Amino acid sequence: MKSSPVFEFRQAVGQLRVLVPPVWRVKVRRCALPEGCSGDCSLVTPKKGDPYYSVRVNRSLSEDAQTLILLHEWSHALSWGSESHRIRHHGPEFGIAYARAWSALIEE
Ligand SMILES: [Zn+2]
Repeated sequence: MKSSPVFEFRQAVGQLRVLVPPVWRVKVRRCALPEGCSGDCSLVTPKKGDPYYSVRVNRSLSEDAQTLILLHEWSHALSWGSESHRIRHHGPEFGIAYARAWSALIEE
């Protein structure tokens, strides 16, 4: 029996966009990623136009797992601000960003 997910991925993306927007726009994609890679976040700086964050989530995961990965990767974008090179990957800034993203998800 397949239980329904606690979180709906698309709705989560919408809430994060409105309640905890990072400094640059975030492009979220659910795609096929190598086994063992749940997702990632990177800052893309195109030659033309504004930089943006690219968040990728492994689409083979369950809907709830995808939302949790989204939350994690979004928190990277949120903690990096405009100085990603100075922020430790899973340091205190990340922890604070993660808490903010989590509240945005559960407090509609
Ligand atoms: Zn991480």
